[in-house]
Amino acid sequence: MSYRAPVSDIAFTLKHAAGLKNALAEGIYGDLDEETVDSVLAEAGRYASDVIAPLNSVGDKFGTPFKDGTVTTPPGWKKAYTDWAAAGWNGLAAPADWGGQELPHALNAACIEMWNGASMAFGIGPVLTMAAIDALHAYGNDKLKQEYLGKLVSGEWMGTMQLTEPQAGSDVGALRTKAERANGNYRITGSKIFITYGEHDLTDNIIHFVLARLPDAPQGTKGISLFLVPKILPDGSRNDVRAHSVEHKLGIHASPTCTMVYGDRGGAVGFLIGEENKGMACMFTMMNRARLAVGLQGVGIAERATQHALAYARERKQGPASAIIAYPDVRRMLLTMRTLTGAARAICYATGIAIDRSMRAKTDAERKSAHERASLLTPVAKAFSTDIGSEVASLGIQVHGGMGYVEETGAAQHYRDARIAAIYEGTNGIQALDLVTRKVPLEGGKTVNMYIDELRRTVKSVQSSNAPEFGETATRLGEAVDSLECASRWLLAQKASDAALAGATPYLRLFGNTAGGCMLAEEALASLRTGDGTSRSVFARFFAENIAIQASSLERSVTEGAGSFADAQAALAE
Ligand SMILES: Cc1cc2nc3c(=O)[nH]c(=O)nc-3n(C[C@H](O)[C@H](O)[C@H](O)COP(=O)(O)OP(=O)(O)OC[C@H]3O[C@@H](n4cnc5c(N)ncnc54)[C@H](O)[C@@H]3O)c2cc1C
Repeated sequence: MSYRAPVSDIAFTLKHAAGLKNALAEGIYGDLDEETVDSVLAEAGRYASDVIAPLNSVGDKFGTPFKDGTVTTPPGWKKAYTDWAAAGWNGLAAPADWGGQELPHALNAACIEMWNGASMAFGIGPVLTMAAIDALHAYGNDKLKQEYLGKLVSGEWMGTMQLTEPQAGSDVGALRTKAERANGNYRITGSKIFITYGEHDLTDNIIHFVLARLPDAPQGTKGISLFLVPKILPDGSRNDVRAHSVEHKLGIHASPTCTMVYGDRGGAVGFLIGEENKGMACMFTMMNRARLAVGLQGVGIAERATQHALAYARERKQGPASAIIAYPDVRRMLLTMRTLTGAARAICYATGIAIDRSMRAKTDAERKSAHERASLLTPVAKAFSTDIGSEVASLGIQVHGGMGYVEETGAAQHYRDARIAAIYEGTNGIQALDLVTRKVPLEGGKTVNMYIDELRRTVKSVQSSNAPEFGETATRLGEAVDSLECASRWLLAQKASDAALAGATPYLRLFGNTAGGCMLAEEALASLRTGDGTSRSVFARFFAENIAIQASSLERSVTEGAGSFADAQAALAE
């Protein structure tokens, strides 16, 4: 069972739940029109479904063999990547001055979902290049941009993002890779682990974006600088950086995860991006985009697992029913998969629209407010979507029964692939902390409260639609919004106390369930309005009555749960 990009669902969510239609009508994107958006989505869907998706299981089996310092990518991957880049997909949202098409980030988000639905191991490489483009564009000097930006935008060269060291994972401030000033540039020595696409044969040059510390730098994150370290230097010589090994891992087998070594010959030449000791600010530009993109990996893999399970459930016969899809428990699983995927998709695309508005809205005030919205939604987009990616892939196996557990059907690959997305780009635990300690308190809580008001308006619209298809949707979503509001108020009062940190993960889930439920309802309202003939109200209702309804328990877990494990450290240590 292969993957068919769900282009019409994607377009509908983008326009009606995420707000692309309104943004187009307001002229946020100049003269861009819906027809252009539709044709970009259709073409991306075709490439993802017909070219990338068939490579997914080839990549899983072949992996990334490593010999004499080089990585061989699976058969067919280089051609698929080269054609993909030549078609301009890498630069879809990149600046026009550097060869990009400057189309909406939200549209790029939809395409990123499709590349990753087709193959997560393929999709993650360009995600890092796109993030590198953003950082170089925002912070690089003119000379570096001239040398590297155009080739990164075209995809002729790919980028990497290098933070992690054995002692420095979530705690990036503990990193030890050294940078020393030399001949107007820098020499980098040290090593990095777990570097995605750190070495490969897809492009002739690989541009590493490396965090390192100067000898006189302050401790912690305030002493980190960002360097551009090309594999091949501008004079054509090989820089002093190499892959030492490639990890063997649970999933995304075709994405090479490398240990990198710097300085066998005295130090790799590095070029400073931004200012010395201000590397974290530059890296955050990369990380925020990459976090949304990893959230989209969660959506993509959930979509693929859902398609797979649906196809199986329509065919598989057991017992008296004509196929297992007729059984309520199987339908419950399939509806859970379908609606969690739709909810996460809408949250991710809405984050993309907020990013676009933060860059393109007409007034400073609108851009600032959109920036805050994007900041609020980014950890939710990342963590909610990747959590549900694993859950949906797990349900996908369950729908297949024993055939899901064996590798033959491919359902097991989705489960193995999905798992990493909750770990890299900041673990989901770290995303929840970011939401609770930095994002909820934005503007003294105004940002989150404005968002909650917006969700309430959706609830009111469902209520006043009086459409019988909605069942108890308005009531359940209204209760969920109440819970989100209470939990947010409680967290704001707590500040970053241990109790607040303990409730961070259930709070993020409460946020995702409530926002996702409201966005599915927005979609259903639009579907009724436009008479598009789909059953979106079935999905909105299922989600509200079966998933959003968990809000009050999650609220209590946030506000009352901490007591039960405040003193648990000793018990766990026994
Ligand atoms: C396949 C793969 C690809 C990767 N690609 C890249 C890449 O391209 N570039 C790169 O730089 N890195 C990459 N990474 C590294 C990845 O980003 C880290 O693994 C991740 O950030 C977590 O760090 P860690 O593994 O050291 O876990 P740890 O930081 O040791 O975390 C372990 C657990 O403790 C929790 N934890 C840690 N600190 C806190 C805290 N303060 N409060 C609450 N909980 C906490 C975490 O949430 C987690 O559950 C990759 C990793 C893998 C496996």
